[in-house]
Amino acid sequence: MNNCVFCKIVAGEIPSSKVAETDQILAFRDIDPHAPTHVLLIPKEHALDSAADLGPEDAGWLAELMILAARVAQDEGLENGWRVLTNVGPAAGQTVFHIHFHLMGGWTDR
Ligand code: 5GP
Ligand code: ZN
Repeated sequence: MNNCVFCKIVAGEIPSSKVAETDQILAFRDIDPHAPTHVLLIPKEHALDSAADLGPEDAGWLAELMILAARVAQDEGLENGWRVLTNVGPAAGQTVFHIHFHLMGGWTDR
């Protein structure tokens, strides 16, 4: 997808701090973290702008993404608790229109 910052990260045209990957999924650190650990998980292929467009054909990579999120949470030592969220649309705070999921955790004060 032209001019998509996450597609450029997948292509290596913009540097990122990679955390993990599978055939279909890339996990990298958010450039502006909102939690002590803040990782973004994206499908490498820009098939969807947001979760609003999900359909039955997405079940495979979506499961792969959630399983990778759980593995990253374990690897990052987030046993204390973590969350996964996705913003859909500008009103919800979506700023990058390549579907992605935020994995956040690492709080010690709650
Ligand atoms: P959204 O607000 O769309 O749900 O999330 C987009 C996220 O992408 C934001 O948390 C933002 O900090 C992150 N982000 C935007 N540009 C870049 C970038 O170039 N590199 C990295 N690592 N994260 C980015
Ligand atoms: Zn993209």
